[in-house]
Amino acid sequence: MRVLLVEDNPILSRSLTDALTSAKLTVDCMHDGESADHVLRTQDYALVILDIGLPKLDGLEVLRRLRARRNAVPVLMLTAHGSVEERVRGLDLGADDYLAKPFALTELEARARAAAPRTRAGGFACPMRHADLRQRG
Ligand code: CA
Repeated sequence: MRVLLVEDNPILSRSLTDALTSAKLTVDCMHDGESADHVLRTQDYALVILDIGLPKLDGLEVLRRLRARRNAVPVLMLTAHGSVEERVRGLDLGADDYLAKPFALTELEARARAAAPRTRAGGFACPMRHADLRQRG
């Protein structure tokens, strides 16, 4: 499953990329809204993890343009802590879910699983599913 991560903070984007990669996802990472907008016009992703505060073009505008093109890819927003307005605007613009910073990587993985297309075969790798079942049991 191919995921687009859009996050301008280099430390955060690196740790998120590591976490998603170890969850057997293929991760493309963009560091500004303009590049994200461009790559979303030309590439297909199973999930987009989109920071709101981005250089050049903010995440809400990237999301607005994406939905204006009738692209229904699931979008998980990363919002500033406590910013209700960002979350509401994002959800209004068609985001599927959000995570307020700071968040645990396990929470990101759980939200990504929930937001990813459920009908698509081979979404997340089997070892992760088994691990989840063990944890629930
Ligand atoms: Ca940011």
